[in-house]
Amino acid sequence: MDERITPEQCIFCKIVKKEAAAHVVRDDARTLVFMDLFPAADGHVLVIPKHHAINLLDCEDADLAAIGPLSRRLAKAMRKVFAPDGIGVFQLNGAAAGQTVWHYHLHLIPRRVGEPMHLHGRAQGDPARLASNAARLAEALEDAGKEADPSRPTRSEAQPNEGRNARARAISEREGPAELASPRASRASRSSRGIRRGSGGRSPRPASRSRCALPPGRRARSTPPCRP
Ligand code: AMP
Ligand code: ZN
Repeated sequence: MDERITPEQCIFCKIVKKEAAAHVVRDDARTLVFMDLFPAADGHVLVIPKHHAINLLDCEDADLAAIGPLSRRLAKAMRKVFAPDGIGVFQLNGAAAGQTVWHYHLHLIPRRVGEPMHLHGRAQGDPARLASNAARLAEALEDAGKEADPSRPTRSEAQPNEGRNARARAISEREGPAELASPRASRASRSSRGIRRGSGGRSPRPASRSRCALPPGRRARSTPPCRP
């Protein structure tokens, strides 16, 4: 687990320095959140520290301390935007664990009941879809931040009866809060709101991108097998 790379060679450092493009969801002093270019599912995002670190073993404590609460707010934003049945949070350390980019990053992946488990996508995401997902997540993340601090008004409070938050609240009041707990209720709720499942990561994976992190034969008991 000794993959050495300089920040000059690192694609995520290039994204931080704006030398490479990305669909950015959030940019603050210490961290960057952007859409995974090869989404394992629609809405797949990455959270990175701006400071170069290879993985968990050399990431600074202060960066990890910032990434924890941010990832929770992001998960809440993801729940609001995509209404998934669950959210996978993954972080791979070393090639043997499936790591392919040598700059610490946390994956957040919306999960649907019955869909096969992939940690890596098979095809590059549609740029328009990535851009719109980034914008929707950014807006929901901003609201999640305000909700975490009750002294700040949320977007929906600032514009009563307008926007997605007011509609989401009306739906939640009608149908109850069991979106993640009940996949069936969640699906019914999604279809009543016209939210469709995305297509990220469903097209055939090129032979060269065999990057499934779960070894063949090893599978989580409650999830379908990871396809090579
Ligand atoms: P890992 O295998 O945990 O190292 O995951 C690296 C992730 O980075 C994969 O999911 C890739 O699809 C993603 N990725 C690689 N290059 C880029 C890029 N330029 N922009 C956004 N995501 C990327
Ligand atoms: Zn880097």
